[in-house]
Amino acid sequence: MTAMNDGLHRLHQLLQQLRDVETQLDRGPRQVRARERLVVKAEQSLEEKREALKQAKATTDRKGLDLKTNEAKIAELQTKLNVSTSNREYDLIRGHMEADTVANSVLEDEILEALETVDRMQIEVGQADQQAQDALAEKERCAEQVAAAEGGLRAQADELASQIREAEKVLSGDVAVQYRRLVEAYGADALASVDGKICTNCYVAITPQMRVELNSGNLKFCECGRLLYLASE
Ligand SMILES: [Zn+2]
Repeated sequence: MTAMNDGLHRLHQLLQQLRDVETQLDRGPRQVRARERLVVKAEQSLEEKREALKQAKATTDRKGLDLKTNEAKIAELQTKLNVSTSNREYDLIRGHMEADTVANSVLEDEILEALETVDRMQIEVGQADQQAQDALAEKERCAEQVAAAEGGLRAQADELASQIREAEKVLSGDVAVQYRRLVEAYGADALASVDGKICTNCYVAITPQMRVELNSGNLKFCECGRLLYLASE
């Protein structure tokens, strides 16, 4: 292998390493944002369940008040019944009292049901609260991990960028200009190794003439545009 070929190989490796580091740098904040969305969702769900519980409690309280009102009404009717002076009046009052008593027994059943609903909703609120706390803890854990890794990754990216600038010095003139365009368009895929006769970017065979030139350390671009170098044997 020629020095030029080794230089291109090294440059390609450095570009790929930088791409990996940049991918990791990019992935961290995305992971945190995904967990933030889960926190928001869990908190919304908790809020909805709290609201539903509040409504259920209000319903139970209202039915309890209705029951008390009806009981007072029945007591009042009882007093009237005690002092009733005619059979007709007595029957009328009895009729009202019976209707109110039936209404109250229905109300009592409804209150029992409503209390069960409140109990169930309280459990659901507890679970939703736990889920919201877990989601928040998970987001914070992820954010800390990402923040802890970021400094190291940035230092690695800086170091690789400086090594890349150094490695790029093997290129000059028109090739350097062409290479710069390729890096802007394809990033680390600006270069491609030739494995046997095949360009590893487009999988098309290079000509024997090209292979000879590469063997001599000349710079060659593939039909697919990539700057070629020979893969180490
Ligand atoms: Zn190619």
